[in-house]
Amino acid sequence: MTTMIVDHRSQQPSVAAINGFQGRLISADHADYDIARAVWNGAIDRRPRLIARCIGAADVIAAVRFARDNDLEIAIRGGGHNVAGTAVCDDGIVIDLSAMRGVRVDPADRSAWVQGGALWSDVDRETQAHGLATTGGIVSHTGVAGLTLGGGVGWLMRKHGLTVDNLLAADVVTADGDLLRASEDEHSDLFWALRGGGGNFGVVTSFEFRLHAVGPTVLAGPILWDANDAGDVLRFYRDFVRDAPDELGTVVRFGTAPPLPVIPEDLHWRPVMIVGSCYAGPIEDGEKTLRPLRAFRTPLLDLVGPTPYVGFQSALDSTVPHGWNYYWKSTHLPELRDELIDVIAGHAFSSSSPRSYVALFQLKGAVSRVAEGETAFGNRQASHAITLDAAWRPGEDYGDRDTAWTRALFAALGPFREGVYVNFLGDDEDPNRVREAYGESVYDRLVDVKTAYDPDNVFHHNQNIRPDLSDSLGGSDG
Ligand SMILES: Cc1cc2nc3c(=O)[nH]c(=O)nc-3n(C[C@H](O)[C@H](O)[C@H](O)COP(=O)(O)OP(=O)(O)OC[C@H]3O[C@@H](n4cnc5c(N)ncnc54)[C@H](O)[C@@H]3O)c2cc1C
Repeated sequence: MTTMIVDHRSQQPSVAAINGFQGRLISADHADYDIARAVWNGAIDRRPRLIARCIGAADVIAAVRFARDNDLEIAIRGGGHNVAGTAVCDDGIVIDLSAMRGVRVDPADRSAWVQGGALWSDVDRETQAHGLATTGGIVSHTGVAGLTLGGGVGWLMRKHGLTVDNLLAADVVTADGDLLRASEDEHSDLFWALRGGGGNFGVVTSFEFRLHAVGPTVLAGPILWDANDAGDVLRFYRDFVRDAPDELGTVVRFGTAPPLPVIPEDLHWRPVMIVGSCYAGPIEDGEKTLRPLRAFRTPLLDLVGPTPYVGFQSALDSTVPHGWNYYWKSTHLPELRDELIDVIAGHAFSSSSPRSYVALFQLKGAVSRVAEGETAFGNRQASHAITLDAAWRPGEDYGDRDTAWTRALFAALGPFREGVYVNFLGDDEDPNRVREAYGESVYDRLVDVKTAYDPDNVFHHNQNIRPDLSDSLGGSDG
């Protein structure tokens, strides 16, 4: 296939061919260019020279080789959801897997094969057709690839582990354009690094996941309290989740009540604290487990009930749509001491935009029972992950104020910080935060794998782990 590449700076057209490429090539002169370069975060506005929309591993190989032959920077696009916008670069080539969304479930083996551009909605839908699931994210339009490669936190993680704890194998196109299979038995060093190390090691064209019996109906839903009760509710919640069974997954949201059809209109946009729960076990056990939380104070609204798991997985989708502007800060946290609760409850509701919010993910359970270093996901003993999420629509002027709001809250959380989840990092972070996401020994091992598989740092448009070139440079600092 041949395409015209227009260098948007010089406006000089040039004809480029990617040998053997069967997918679509989209350059700046193409009618779909602006749609194809847009990512979930509307604040990201980058103009790649070429978008190579692949339809299979052979296209990915061709695109990687083409990029290297032509000295083009590479960005890899899975679901395009990363808040830092790493799925799209200026001037270079986007290796776009969004047309590769196939999912095949083997119910007898309890496993699923998933292509590298699939979204969680694709996986949930196909696996739930068999009453099966694996840990995925809490918003179903998130990409499987980026989420998995960073670790993967979600409702099921305390029972079934992180997404990476359920990864059985991956097919990877390396920086040399070779197609490898990585698993415990093949390229096990690469397989280790893929389970947390992000998109640093190659383009994953497909994943194989272990599945578990889940639902298809689970006890799940949100409980809403008035924002003025947040401190007390959070203290109760802290004690409540400390001994909760692994089946219970919770995420707390501080912000306004989103205008969802299930929420009565008089509550829309009212400042509220929401505890979302999903119980990955028998409904009756979930009812018993959640009873004390549901009885605390008088919630404004309690929507917990038997719910199709696949529907619950997409319940939050419309609260964080594609195309709004987003700015995030995040950190892992230890157990919620009173001082920490005061900081969160004291700051969380002072954003300007009614769309901004704070989310607190309950970790532990199966996440913390995997030994540190067994996969490349760091900080497994952290109690919670918090994200401070500024969100505003294009044209609204909340951006500066709410960016400042997230930074102020992040600063106030400073004394409590304990690492960070790499997939929650924004695009203006100190590079040391990538190291913080892993801890020293995991990071050093990731550097070794990076040096072995991508010594030229071809895959650097990401939360980058730089190769160590000290040997080849005669012992200088790589
Ligand atoms: C609204 C929202 C909700 C979220 N909720 C959760 C959640 O519940 N749990 C959670 O764990 N995370 C969550 N995240 C974070 C999410 O894990 C990251 O944003 C992740 O990067 C999204 O994956 P993606 O494929 O859509 O990313 P993209 O933006 O497409 O890619 C991000 C990076 O991932 C790498 N990558 C993507 N595809 C491939 C591939 N096929 N091969 C190799 N590298 C690849 C590349 O380095 C790329 O730069 C959420 C994000 C958002 C915006």
